[in-house]
Amino acid sequence: MSEIKQNCRICSKEFVVNEWEQAHLQKMGGFPLPTLCIDHRHQRRFAYRNERKLYKDNCDFSGKDIISIYSPDKNLKVYSQEIWWSDKWDGRDYGRDFDFNRPFFDQFQELRLAVPRMSLLNSNGENSEYCNLTTDNKNCYLVFGGDFNQDALYSIFCFYSRDVADLYWVNKSELIYDSIDCANCYNIKHAQNTYNCRDGSFLFDCRNCEYCVGCVGLRAKKYHIFNQAYSPEDYAKKVRELRLDTWSGVQKFKIEFDKFKLNFPMLFASIVNCENCSGDKIKDAKNCENCFDIYGPVEDCKDVFLGGWSLKDALSSSHIGHKSEIAYESIGIPGVNVTAFSSFVWFGSNVYYSDTVAYCNNIFGCTNLHHAEYCILNKQYSKEEYENLRAKIIEHMKKTGEWGEFMPMKNSLFAYNETVAQDFFPKSKDAALSECIKWLDEEVREIKTQDIPDSIQDVKDDITQATFTCEKTGRPYRIVPAELKLYRQMGIPIPHFAPETRNEMRINSRNPHKTWSRNCMKCSKPIKTSYSTDRPEKVYCEECYLAEVY
Ligand SMILES: [Zn+2]
Ligand SMILES: [Zn+2]
Repeated sequence: MSEIKQNCRICSKEFVVNEWEQAHLQKMGGFPLPTLCIDHRHQRRFAYRNERKLYKDNCDFSGKDIISIYSPDKNLKVYSQEIWWSDKWDGRDYGRDFDFNRPFFDQFQELRLAVPRMSLLNSNGENSEYCNLTTDNKNCYLVFGGDFNQDALYSIFCFYSRDVADLYWVNKSELIYDSIDCANCYNIKHAQNTYNCRDGSFLFDCRNCEYCVGCVGLRAKKYHIFNQAYSPEDYAKKVRELRLDTWSGVQKFKIEFDKFKLNFPMLFASIVNCENCSGDKIKDAKNCENCFDIYGPVEDCKDVFLGGWSLKDALSSSHIGHKSEIAYESIGIPGVNVTAFSSFVWFGSNVYYSDTVAYCNNIFGCTNLHHAEYCILNKQYSKEEYENLRAKIIEHMKKTGEWGEFMPMKNSLFAYNETVAQDFFPKSKDAALSECIKWLDEEVREIKTQDIPDSIQDVKDDITQATFTCEKTGRPYRIVPAELKLYRQMGIPIPHFAPETRNEMRINSRNPHKTWSRNCMKCSKPIKTSYSTDRPEKVYCEECYLAEVY
């Protein structure tokens, strides 16, 4: 076997299928080579993940009020999580025969539209109804894909944290606001790539610092502003003058800090305690190629976005891990052994072409099922019947060209801009509609500057009664009481942007899930970096970078 070059059937771009990938495709059941480039494969799957758009609805079983990822106008049958997991119904009641005169995807889609769906994908939450894709959260509000938090607000992928808001990828922190890729921090605002720091704001790549504002690449420093040392008294005076308790003060400082950051070299990628890995944001992994947001132990993966906590042998997949092994083209996969072309599979094994299933083994073309085995299109078979029929369907799908392809994007139950596809592969409404992809017309208002007290100190309790208009996007938003409490405690001004706009800004302030071959701008060593060639930053290899910061 040697590398094979393919051209994407959407963008025509050439991509390589290496020997490991070819062996992986064979191992998983003889899939043909991918017909889409890596990005277009990611995009198609991402269009099935609505992480953050929530709606009020009623459970179609009990009539009770629920929060749901499916807008009521979609006319789907949606059950509360409690009913969905109960024995009051059975997804197999919707089972049907396979028709060999029709394509698989059409039949699977009809089933997906008929079977009652789970309203949200959470487990073990307490007073955290407005969350999705989470487990073990308490008193959390609009937290997505984050687990084991308490009193967390408006955050994505935050873990083991409390009294926090506006986070993206933050671990084990307390009183932290508007921060990205941080861990073990206390009382920190506006930080990125920062660890073990306390009592500071506007930090970038700092470690073990206290009382620092507007600092880059500092190690174990105290009382610094723009990387300059001050006496504790002068520091306090200077920080007071910055008026970071005001919206105008924060906006002004942010501009200055972004300029200041350009004086410092950037590390080409964050690859920590790894062997033979490429991509960015990888920790404790081995043999991972072109992977991003990987938290080990992870081994033998390629083109995986967001995976970890024990993951092995995954190709072109995302949001996957928690003891998952052997995967291809799947999304939302905790605890599954062998899965391909599936979305939201919780625990189980040998799951192919399925969607929103839990604790299932040996299923094919199933949706909204739990604790089942040997089912095809939700219909129960014996082991022998299952294996025979599965083999025949695969032969059929080879003829229709469906074998080896993920479900088409237009079959997603979500509008494109309800999903994370819009975060990483943004499309315009016209482009989506021209491709027959659904679009959500969000409620937006005329953008105008509004009357919000500049300083948090001047904000009255009744601010939680008002509705505001995002000054960037026109989205309406409110301030919830828990949020006001945190802002007062941490001295944070009332934001003029809606929570979802803030999420988007944080996502966009991280580097893309792509690498470029460049040279270290100090020693010229070749590097694969997530900093594209046209960016203004100085980008260094690890050795040159560490020589600067320590
Ligand atoms: Zn492409
Ligand atoms: Zn270098």
